[in-house]
Amino acid sequence: MAGTPFSGPHGVYRIGDTGEAVAEIIGKLQRLGLLAGGHDVYDEATAHAVRGFQQQRGLMIDGIVGPQTYRAIDDARWRLGDRLLTYVVSHPLTGDDVLALQAKLQELGFAVARIDGIFGPDTQRAVTEFQRNMGLPADGTCGPSTFKALQRIKPMATGGRPDALRASEQVRAAGPRLSGKTVVIDPGHGGFDYGWEGFGLRESDIAYDLAARIEGRLGATGVRAYLSRGRDQGPDELARAAFANETDANLCVSLHTDGSMNPEAQGVATYFYGNDLHGASSSVGEQFAGLVQREIVARTDLLNCRTHAKTWDLLRRTKMPAVRLEIGYVTNPHDSARLADPAFRDVVAEAIVVAIQRVYLPPDQDAATGMLRFGQLTV
Ligand SMILES: [Zn+2]
Repeated sequence: MAGTPFSGPHGVYRIGDTGEAVAEIIGKLQRLGLLAGGHDVYDEATAHAVRGFQQQRGLMIDGIVGPQTYRAIDDARWRLGDRLLTYVVSHPLTGDDVLALQAKLQELGFAVARIDGIFGPDTQRAVTEFQRNMGLPADGTCGPSTFKALQRIKPMATGGRPDALRASEQVRAAGPRLSGKTVVIDPGHGGFDYGWEGFGLRESDIAYDLAARIEGRLGATGVRAYLSRGRDQGPDELARAAFANETDANLCVSLHTDGSMNPEAQGVATYFYGNDLHGASSSVGEQFAGLVQREIVARTDLLNCRTHAKTWDLLRRTKMPAVRLEIGYVTNPHDSARLADPAFRDVVAEAIVVAIQRVYLPPDQDAATGMLRFGQLTV
């Protein structure tokens, strides 16, 4: 099962833990050159190595190995050429070797939908196309002969990013009208997971309330809006991404509020899929994140904590452009006072709906940030 997305321990490992799973994690960190030998307990040095790894990979930096960090550590050990890469429908292969393969194909002009380290049908198609061009048996599997051909061939001087071009072409082709589009709204947390709590507010409740406000507005413009969870449910990130993919949505918006042990931490930030390795990112996701962030900052007095590339499951495993918002800190007196106010939530909901509209407006029809009102949307 090595290399499959669901292999490995499902628990959460942190300082003080021991046992078989911890030994496996330590061994993997050592093989990646992140940790010296001589550790058998999840100690301070292990947590330090994990934090460094998480930072490098665009993961949540907490020094704790949960399922997502475990999968990323597992992915990191593969180099292109280590194993046969092929499309496995039931559990697509993931790993740094897939990421390198996709980046290489892209560089050579064979477009994959996204450089995400997941060997899906689009990667299989790009490999097949490459093999055909090279006069190799076109089976869509990257084995030794395909690997050798990939190493041999020099990239064409295209310089462009076929994935980015294709993604923006899809947006253009979708047209400016909102009606007929599908948007998945993902209220963070839920069920027994309240997320951050502060000043009598729960992140899970705020996220759900905001989702309902956005859903109502989108519905009025003819958008099919789907919520990824019910009021009292708390599916995991993989289930949420799978749900979004099943709806074949145009966009996905994940709603969170932030929190911190430091009561002074405050502000709004938006995240999109991206990874510094091989310059992988979702171009439309990045653009969408910028629009959402700017619209919220222009319409509220939340501090601008900017947009950032991350590899979180909901961003990486959704096929459509997806963003995750952290709207204010419930642990901050200023932000929590705003979040508690239903009128403020309406302003945020409107800002997000306007940003969704602006993704689809051609430059000559686009409005200035903070100016577009709900009644002016192109339905
Ligand atoms: Zn959250």
